[in-house]
Amino acid sequence: MESKRVALVTGASKGIGRAIAIRLAQSNIDVIINYNKDLKGAEKTQKECESSGVEARILQGDMSNEEEVNTVFKNIMDQFGKIDILVNNAGITRDGLLISMKEGDFRKVLEVNLFSAFYTMKLAARLMAKKRFGRIVNISSIVGIRGNRGQVNYSASKAGLIGMTKSLAKEMASRNIRVNAIAPGFIETDMTDKLDPKIKEKMLAEIPVKYFGKPEDIGNLVNFLVSEEASYITGQVISIDGGMNI
Ligand code: NAP
Repeated sequence: MESKRVALVTGASKGIGRAIAIRLAQSNIDVIINYNKDLKGAEKTQKECESSGVEARILQGDMSNEEEVNTVFKNIMDQFGKIDILVNNAGITRDGLLISMKEGDFRKVLEVNLFSAFYTMKLAARLMAKKRFGRIVNISSIVGIRGNRGQVNYSASKAGLIGMTKSLAKEMASRNIRVNAIAPGFIETDMTDKLDPKIKEKMLAEIPVKYFGKPEDIGNLVNFLVSEEASYITGQVISIDGGMNI
């Protein structure tokens, strides 16, 4: 019998990443919970995943640092011997208008949100190609599709992820590796918690369904995209935003 699938979810110590890890665990997939700073959060994710009866291991690593990504992958191979599913979820914001944005804030967001995916996908695609199986899901954003005031850096990183998704999907399709992106709208997490209530109110007015999304909504979509039911889908950007991008 085919051994259990193994998934790496980057930035799974809270929010959307945690919900993705938990949802994959519920589908009987072993999960590697990556985090950068929040060990307690990662342990909470681990407990919840283990309650589904799967292996859930925590691997710390700053995904914007190529050496640390290499170490995480070495540990995955030592512990599991393979990687079937990669979810690039780790992400940050450093908002501000372009005219006053510091180069460091532009660079940092690109490093964490985009370079990280370059490092992880390069390693994962090589390993997946050997096994002739792989599912990669990149967490982009509605902002990567239509831009947003104060988010030149973030939108560049998320649009970049979409370009990488489409290119890699073409490169790897013949090896049975599917690469897709998800473009969430407004999802209630720590990232959106810190927004000004007035901005939130404005955003809500733009959402046809009239409520914000939950991390679990994204977990469910990732779970579908990595399943056999989605095996004919590749290179796509799936919006999940309550209609915000209509
Ligand atoms: P969040 O609550 O702020 O969580 C971010 C996660 O990323 C944390 O687990 C954090 O780990 C991890 N992370 C940050 N820098 C990292 C690094 N250098 N290396 C490894 N992990 C790192 O954010 P969220 O709202 O769940 O967002 C998750 C993803 O969805 C992001 O890519 C975000 O851009 C995207 N997204 C979110 C929304 C939304 O409305 N919330 C909408 C569209 C897209 P530590 O805390 O351990 O450092």
